[in-house]
Amino acid sequence: MAGRIVIDMERCKGCGLCLAVCPKNSIGIAPESNKNGYFPARAKNDGCTACTRCAVICPEGIIEVLLEEPDAIRIVATAAKKDTPRMVEEKR
Ligand code: SF4
Ligand code: SF4
Repeated sequence: MAGRIVIDMERCKGCGLCLAVCPKNSIGIAPESNKNGYFPARAKNDGCTACTRCAVICPEGIIEVLLEEPDAIRIVATAAKKDTPRMVEEKR
């Protein structure tokens, strides 16, 4: 099973916290700034295990974590829509 993340790069503040906590070095920084002038985090996804650490620590709540299972893709952490609390599903 492989993990994958999706980052809302236009809302990223480039704080780097997600990079710092990722145990697999699966997140980098984009070479170009977003519309707010920040260099956003960018998913590399190689080696991602869907551990959700990046999603939990992101102060903007803009990282979605997906787990690719043999028969389905499961969302284990949802990114927050604007003004909506985010949910992180507990892994079993
Ligand atoms: S889910 Fe875990 S392994 Fe995947 S990018 Fe986030 S911190 Fe890294
Ligand atoms: S923790 Fe969130 S805001 Fe900070 S760089 Fe990562 S995605 Fe961007």
